[in-house]
Amino acid sequence: MPHRKEITEILNLMELTKNIRNTALAGHIDHGKTTLSDSLLSEAGFLSPDLAGEARALDYLEEEQQRGITMKSANISLYYEKSLEGHEPFLINLVDTPGHLDFSGKVTRALRLIDGVVIVVDAVEEVITQSETVIKQALQEGVKPVLFINKVDRLIRELRLSDDEIKKKYIRIIKSFNKLIDRYADHPFNKKWKVSPMSGNVAFGSALHKWGFNLNILEKSDLTFKDIRERYNKDTYTKESYADLAFYFPIHKAILEMVVDHLPNPIEAQKYRIGKIWDGDLNSDLGKAMISCDPDGPLIICLSKVQADKHGLVATGRIFCGSCGKKNEVFLLNEKNYETIQRIAIFMGQRREQVDKIPVGNIVAIEGLKLIRSGETIIDSNHINGMVPFESVKYVTMPVITVSIEPEFLRDLDKMKELIENMLIEDPNLKFEINEETGEFLLSGVGPLHLEVTAHEIGKRGVNVSTSEPRAVFKESCRYNSSSIKVISSDDKYMLKLKVERLDNRTVRFFQNIDYKTIKPFNVLKEVLKENTGLNDEEVEKFWICDEDQNIIIYNASNELDELYKNTIIEIIEKIH
Ligand code: GDP
Repeated sequence: MPHRKEITEILNLMELTKNIRNTALAGHIDHGKTTLSDSLLSEAGFLSPDLAGEARALDYLEEEQQRGITMKSANISLYYEKSLEGHEPFLINLVDTPGHLDFSGKVTRALRLIDGVVIVVDAVEEVITQSETVIKQALQEGVKPVLFINKVDRLIRELRLSDDEIKKKYIRIIKSFNKLIDRYADHPFNKKWKVSPMSGNVAFGSALHKWGFNLNILEKSDLTFKDIRERYNKDTYTKESYADLAFYFPIHKAILEMVVDHLPNPIEAQKYRIGKIWDGDLNSDLGKAMISCDPDGPLIICLSKVQADKHGLVATGRIFCGSCGKKNEVFLLNEKNYETIQRIAIFMGQRREQVDKIPVGNIVAIEGLKLIRSGETIIDSNHINGMVPFESVKYVTMPVITVSIEPEFLRDLDKMKELIENMLIEDPNLKFEINEETGEFLLSGVGPLHLEVTAHEIGKRGVNVSTSEPRAVFKESCRYNSSSIKVISSDDKYMLKLKVERLDNRTVRFFQNIDYKTIKPFNVLKEVLKENTGLNDEEVEKFWICDEDQNIIIYNASNELDELYKNTIIEIIEKIH
């Protein structure tokens, strides 16, 4: 298929919201996500030079060369025209989820873009730690999982298990999977989303040998499991002996059937997901527009990750309402800033194809926004009233460990700083500062491993660095309460009287663990504060705000404040900090 045509077809399909599935492959590291995604890419014409002539072959080589980083770290829109008999063409926006341990809510943010996920479980190792974490995280985001049990070839040829033993293994894996659904999905999905081979939302196979089936496929086939076994059972089995399995049971068919038949399209998913991931009023016009996945509503996008490349910042986002065009004027809710989208694009592996418009329910690459960070919410600048950001990612933790970091060669200092600045945009859990007294470059993160991975990443991006032993970050607090302090604003216009007091541990713990801004309205918050903190009734009544270091402000004066004064007060307090 000529390249241009493909883009046009993708754009046409993007309008057919019910034919879209926003999906990811997720699971414990090494269980086979990358191997499986190769088969899906190849079926969509991506990794197969045979299908697409000379031009494609060049693309293919380029992509193949960079595969290690690219295919693992790219989002991609895959168009399937005739892959499933009796199905209309459909589009799968395959979103990348980070493969390594997650430190920063990156997985959660990636999950926010999608509505369904294929969990890949290694049949030999079964459901283990990271599979469990990722299933839990998906369910907490309202993302529906289906199950692919991979590496079945190993059960036969390495472990030499009997049919009965294999069956027992399957049952154990499915049971653990359903237990997690029962525990972490909301009602009624904790029952509805349970999987079983009979319903077709469990598939089995070997990603490496490119075969897979669900019960339906197996029943319709002339082959049985015995035939699969035979191909591996021979003492001297060769590549040729099992090669035809990929023909009889093409793996993409098993996976695509699950995705298309069992994972929701954006219209179905947004009905229940908006209430789960968005904190605003569901009965407001904006709430209703998002719930109904309105193509004509105001543009609303939730951004998962922001990365820097040679063109500037590129943000990946899911359009939850309206459609996104280049030159759209938008408001950034967390940054509280107006900006103009310069260009938009569809993700095609490491390439991005620039387009003019992408409609609701799709994944978009946005270029040209300057003040963005991962996790931002953006909205059409004419409709900001009543809009609140998508719920903040709950896993973001405070940097508690610091290392001093320096490049191997001094000449790379500026480059190192630039790389770190970029990584700060991608990972809101990193902090970077220069110690004024010692001149040291200090990088802080949520744990030693987080910093180790970050230092490694800086190396991969071109500057080898060395780091000191990690040390804990200290926070200062006051031991005794202050007397009344008077502060004058910098323009000499305002005077503020305040007292600083130390908070009790219970209150600090509450604000550390709970995002109080999600508790609404204020009356409900007051009740929660009374019950769960050490604040007395009067302090609760006058509670105003809490920052990320658990400093809270109790506003004690009697007059109501307008926004301007509020900002001035916060500015003055920040100065004293
Ligand atoms: P990821 O970390 O989940 O992306 O896992 P990979 O796709 O990189 O696979 C990890 C390892 O398992 C690689 O060496 C693959 O070749 C191997 N692997 C993946 N799928 C299968 C399979 O179905 N059977 C066997 N025997 N090996 C597999």
